[in-house]
Amino acid sequence: MKLTFFGAARDVTGSCIHLYHDGIEILIDCGMHQGIKAEKLNNTPFSFNPAKISYLILTHAHLDHSGLIPKLVKEGFKGRIFTTPATRDLAEILLYDSAHIQEKDAEWLTRKNLRKGRTTVVEPVYKVEDVLASLPYFENVPYGLIRSLDKGIRFRLIDAGHILGSASVELWFKDETTRKEKKIVFSGDIGKSGNPLIEDPTNIEKADYICIESTYGDRFHKNLSDTVEELREAVSETLRKEGNVLIPAFSVGRTQDVLFVLHNLAKENKLKNLNIFVDSPLAEKATQVYLSHVEMLEKNVDLAFLYKNSENYRIHFTKSVEESQRLNAIKSGAIIIAGSGMCEGGRIRHHMKHNIWRPECSVIFTGFQAKGTLGRLIVDGAKKAKILGEEIVIRSKIFTIGGFSAHADQKELLEWLGKVKTDPMVFINHGEEKASLEFEKKVVETLRMVTKVPSLGDSYEL
Ligand SMILES: [Zn+2]
Ligand SMILES: [Zn+2]
Repeated sequence: MKLTFFGAARDVTGSCIHLYHDGIEILIDCGMHQGIKAEKLNNTPFSFNPAKISYLILTHAHLDHSGLIPKLVKEGFKGRIFTTPATRDLAEILLYDSAHIQEKDAEWLTRKNLRKGRTTVVEPVYKVEDVLASLPYFENVPYGLIRSLDKGIRFRLIDAGHILGSASVELWFKDETTRKEKKIVFSGDIGKSGNPLIEDPTNIEKADYICIESTYGDRFHKNLSDTVEELREAVSETLRKEGNVLIPAFSVGRTQDVLFVLHNLAKENKLKNLNIFVDSPLAEKATQVYLSHVEMLEKNVDLAFLYKNSENYRIHFTKSVEESQRLNAIKSGAIIIAGSGMCEGGRIRHHMKHNIWRPECSVIFTGFQAKGTLGRLIVDGAKKAKILGEEIVIRSKIFTIGGFSAHADQKELLEWLGKVKTDPMVFINHGEEKASLEFEKKVVETLRMVTKVPSLGDSYEL
């Protein structure tokens, strides 16, 4: 078996691992690159022939794992895409959204070129029609089922506890010389234990090789009860001052987690009279996927918080642009949850324009803010910012609540790996270089496992 890292190697995004075994080519994820070099990397041709890939196993729906599937199909992939039913449904809405944004951006850049007298037409990496063409290749595989492929290769998906439908992959293959069966595990993104909506990550006891993510390989998170208290204080302070609360949030996962926590606080009378507006068509679609895949959520979780009003908790999903704009007239008491999570696009920007200059309002950040984004600028304490073409002063109170992360921290990653009793060789990926290297040090020190931190394009013969 030959293993090659074509993304998320000393980097967080663009997850893509290529396997070659006995003439069969398999991909684990086909993710989009995000951040500074994204445009160049996403437009670079694949380092393998998409037509020769027989199978793609998709760990979860986040675009840094699924985002280049339409490009793969456009360039000749004709194999099968295995993933859990919830991941398939979430990937569909995220890929459509991504294609739509790319088409709009490309159109805008083309028009900009024309105005400068250039005729260069900017092409998106893929279009909505390419997403449509990708969907027939998906095949649902539920958690726990062992699926056989060619040449004695078998795999199983198990719950990674990261977002709805997320999986780690256990894959068995026959060693080419000894013909003995070997097992490699791809962690996918590993969730934080204790998420109220999805199960904790499944542990693995046996493996010959493990490929593990390290997003927070050098950091520790706050616990959930402190996080909930931070959110309660921020919301109640703003409502007391008669302002609005803005919560920029990712549509899949974070929005639903925040709603769940707000609902519980209202139920326990710790917050009163909440008027919540979820102003994101994508979040509404994602919420529908939650409602249609109850079987993949934590047992006995009551999803009423996603649709049912009570005395202290009123939830409203805004639909049209006009309806979203009408929220501008509300001067106090609204909790507006909207995308994008890093304020790079989406409806959150117009809510900021109408609220962020008002000292009685607040913005609560619940997710990671990458360098260079509007969200990061605000979190770092900017006094003004250009929002929708206008320079706006920032007078609202800014809260940053870190404990909502969907990723295991260093301690939890080590615990997950420590459950493996068979002394595996460990590949550490999906982390910024510093995080991966620091995590490697911990793995060697505390678990005494043999480790590798691959760079982009590195191959290993297993
Ligand atoms: Zn993820
Ligand atoms: Zn990821």
